[in-house]
Amino acid sequence: MAASGTGLGAPDPNLGVAPENLVIIGSGPAGYTAAIYAARANLNPLLITGFQVGGIAGGQLMTTTHVENFPGFPDGILGPELMDRMKSQAVRWGTRLLEADAEGLDLSQRPYRIRVEGQTIISQSLILATGASANRLGIADEDRFWSRGISACAICDGATPQFRNAQLAVVGGGDSACEEAVYLTKYGSKVHLIVRGARLRASAAMADRVRANPAITVHWHRQVIGVAPEPGDGNWLGAITLGDPTGGSSETLPVRGLFYAIGHTPNTQLMRDQLALDPRGYLITRAGHPETSLEGVYAAGDVADAEWRQGITAAASGCQAALAAERWLSAQGLALTVPRAEVEPKSLGEPVQTPVSDGDNYDPVALWQKGGYALRKLYHDSNRPLLVVYSSPSCGPCHVLKPQLKRVLKELEGRAQGVEIDIETDQDIAEQAGVTGTPTVQLFLNKELKQQWKGVKQRSEFLQAIDALLNPSS
Ligand SMILES: Cc1cc2nc3c(=O)[nH]c(=O)nc-3n(C[C@H](O)[C@H](O)[C@H](O)COP(=O)(O)OP(=O)(O)OC[C@H]3O[C@@H](n4cnc5c(N)ncnc54)[C@H](O)[C@@H]3O)c2cc1C
Repeated sequence: MAASGTGLGAPDPNLGVAPENLVIIGSGPAGYTAAIYAARANLNPLLITGFQVGGIAGGQLMTTTHVENFPGFPDGILGPELMDRMKSQAVRWGTRLLEADAEGLDLSQRPYRIRVEGQTIISQSLILATGASANRLGIADEDRFWSRGISACAICDGATPQFRNAQLAVVGGGDSACEEAVYLTKYGSKVHLIVRGARLRASAAMADRVRANPAITVHWHRQVIGVAPEPGDGNWLGAITLGDPTGGSSETLPVRGLFYAIGHTPNTQLMRDQLALDPRGYLITRAGHPETSLEGVYAAGDVADAEWRQGITAAASGCQAALAAERWLSAQGLALTVPRAEVEPKSLGEPVQTPVSDGDNYDPVALWQKGGYALRKLYHDSNRPLLVVYSSPSCGPCHVLKPQLKRVLKELEGRAQGVEIDIETDQDIAEQAGVTGTPTVQLFLNKELKQQWKGVKQRSEFLQAIDALLNPSS
């Protein structure tokens, strides 16, 4: 955990912890905007970022490339970069981050209770900004081929070697499906867009891009009803079967990649039976207002918005929720404000990029380096555990994971090292390493692969694995 749930005021007699003024759950545009406003109001907010349940820290924009409609960025900005900036702004003004999932909520009493990593945090007020998660089709063998051809994030996984020059398919007819189909033409030889109905639901501009792209074939009135392995060891997706929802004939397409873009479900599992939800599971609030059905509990962003679902609308509702929480806490006499030590917090500056190592700047004892040169040198010469993370520039989960891995290496004070490989620039290395998606992390010792992880994992997993190599007898 990055921050402990140290609350304010008198401790709860049963739990022994003091209540927070405000806990924000979720770190998308809604959560971070709420945090910026609440921190600037000296409410000392605690933000639970989310980790694996309900998406990733930073939210849905971590899974996209260019965001071209968020005001203030005339040339557009990469989704993960936009979210890194929101996070920095929230932290700069004093938001405390807890890098974990909220596992349970008890809204039956005040202060409200939140379960996180086995602990209970109590809070006078709450902002629920848990957003929405990508839907799955739920077809047979979906789990078998998940990350072995099937993905819910073309932007994260499109650069994977297995997809290069292969036929690929995208399911869906909205903006995300069209964006993903166009994006995948960078990698695949042909992209099939599978649409259940007779028209695209995407915006006119997106639909035009699809129609104008000769590498995309749209299959109307089709749905994916089956998946099959490719010949050989059968470990990778090789074909999909398309059925006709109106009862026509089926057909098989030889694709190595199947990408889902079939909408999202609001992350309200924690709130079921405690707050008013609509039939689709969205939190119900009064139109244009953040108040939920319980006093002191506010909703922000996609979790309460089945209609607009944009970064800017989520950010705007995060602002409203924080202002409403501040007013309510003040009116109830519950706000215990914490003035900042510095009236004007220090600028955090621009993020520093790791340079690619070469013969001139390679450092045999550096904790973290980048590129094939550093990997080859460390693989052959180092006798310390070596963490290799395979990422791609647009991979949002990689943005979440890399700082975690750097923290692990810092905590180990040089007893292990790390190298980052961009699978777009170092395709051969990624292929040789058998990388099937990003992020992938491999742990080596003395040229031997000891362990491999796919996706974002807790820091403790990496620490334990490296510790076991450093202390084999303990
Ligand atoms: C592929 C794609 C492209 C998009 N492109 C654009 C675009 O160009 N412009 C635009 O304006 N919008 C775009 N959107 C929409 C935009 O991303 C969303 O509207 C916006 O991110 C919603 O913000 P949010 O803060 O409400 O929720 P989200 O971004 O969904 O964030 C939810 C947060 O809650 C966390 N969370 C969930 N459950 C828990 C839990 N139990 N405990 C703790 N945390 C939890 C998640 O980890 C996440 O951090 C795009 C969406 C997608 C999927």
